[in-house]
Amino acid sequence: MSLVQVLSVASEVFPLVKTGGLADVVGALPAALAAEGVRVRTLVPGYPAVLAGIAVSARHALGPVFGGPATLVTGTAAGLDLLVLDAPHLYARDGGPYAGPDGRDWPDNAFRFAALALVAADIATGGWADWRPDLVHAHDWQAGLLPAYLHYRGAGSPPSVMTVHNLAFAGKFQPELIRLLGLPDAAMQPDGVEFFGALSMLKAGLRFADRITTVSPGYAAEIVTAEFGMGFDGLLRARGAALCGILNGIDTAEWNPATDRYLEAPFSAGLWQARARNKAALQVLLGLAVDAEAPLFCVVSRLSWQKGLDLLLAALPELLAQGAQLAVLGAGENVLEAGFRAQALAHPGRIGCVIGYNEALAHQMQAGADALLVPSRFEPCGLTQLYALRYGAIPVVARVGGLGDTVIDANPMALGAGVATGVQFAAPSTVLLEGAIARAVVLYRDRPVWRRMQINAMASDVSWRGPARSYAGLYRAMLA
Ligand code: ADP
Repeated sequence: MSLVQVLSVASEVFPLVKTGGLADVVGALPAALAAEGVRVRTLVPGYPAVLAGIAVSARHALGPVFGGPATLVTGTAAGLDLLVLDAPHLYARDGGPYAGPDGRDWPDNAFRFAALALVAADIATGGWADWRPDLVHAHDWQAGLLPAYLHYRGAGSPPSVMTVHNLAFAGKFQPELIRLLGLPDAAMQPDGVEFFGALSMLKAGLRFADRITTVSPGYAAEIVTAEFGMGFDGLLRARGAALCGILNGIDTAEWNPATDRYLEAPFSAGLWQARARNKAALQVLLGLAVDAEAPLFCVVSRLSWQKGLDLLLAALPELLAQGAQLAVLGAGENVLEAGFRAQALAHPGRIGCVIGYNEALAHQMQAGADALLVPSRFEPCGLTQLYALRYGAIPVVARVGGLGDTVIDANPMALGAGVATGVQFAAPSTVLLEGAIARAVVLYRDRPVWRRMQINAMASDVSWRGPARSYAGLYRAMLA
């Protein structure tokens, strides 16, 4: 089996910079691919947190990139082989990867991410003497221009894979930028990067990549429809033969209930007393009544329309009527933050919420809650339900995208066969969410059934092994 060399290009990588599941995937896939004979080097922007977090091995001066000096820094962090684009005029600032401290997108985002794609294209086409990949893998809109740059360079370009982690982020910019970004005017048309009058970096990737993947088979089937396609469904239907879904895995070392450093009491399947200690600790932490019998639901999520948490706010009277508790960890839209804060104030001891981003608490929620609620309107893959499975928190999920692919609903046949791992409901509906919560509580009160589901959930293979094999198979098929 010959070694395949891949240049992976992304705007986030765990543990250095993360706003969502993209970072987890980009951070975890390389180690899993190494076992499949694939060497991945990951190109990321030189944000301050990235430059501070890597062990540098070398620096290579590049020519100026979009009006400022740039250096390619090679190094490692957390076992990752990183190429960092150090371009201070683009990345050396306080704030998030996409927006400033005021929450507004950086005004030069088009150049910040085009630079990433442009340098990737240079590396891919032999512009860096030290190394050249067999294939490039672009993630989401931030890397979307890479397949377009390669397309216009023509011969000598390696094949490209574009992975869509979330079609909702189109990476749209003013069409006038087309030349400044180094693309021909001809690219600014419907059969190019034009998207409803704008320049879309995601469209560039979807149009020009040799293969398109998305992060679950369910989402791959959904995004070719008008309902889920976000305006890209026509293009995706046309490119159907190049599109496939490969489920995400999770980092099973980082997310291991038996060794998790964040937990009150590490545990594994069957050690329910230890798990109960995490529940009590979580109840204390969230200001909930310490009650081993009350079914404790939790949410760990960006608070956004996508996640359907407005439906959960509407379903709270039913959740409380069932005698259940709710713990929420999340940040995002003001109305949702305010909504959960208000509910926590109105129902002390029954509803607790922490607004903010907290990695340790995310682990503690999965270990302490009885069930995780994910009522998403759409969900490309979803990682939190995978963590929940591994930690024996029963996922209660909307049947969309990757949620439908990863959770086995406790319907009568699955219960009869002893294979259920969670509860699914048809999205998006408050009434059906209420029904799912009620169904979960009934299951919870039938202790042998619940334990069986927890054991099944914790035995689910949520590792990267299978997915890595699929990506390696795809790469090899493309190079054959
Ligand atoms: P998305 O990428 O759409 O936000 P995913 O479920 O794929 O959703 O990934 C979300 C990731 O972000 C998970 O690793 C989850 O634990 C984490 N996460 C989301 N919100 C928070 C938060 N408030 N605090 C800590 N981790 C969070």
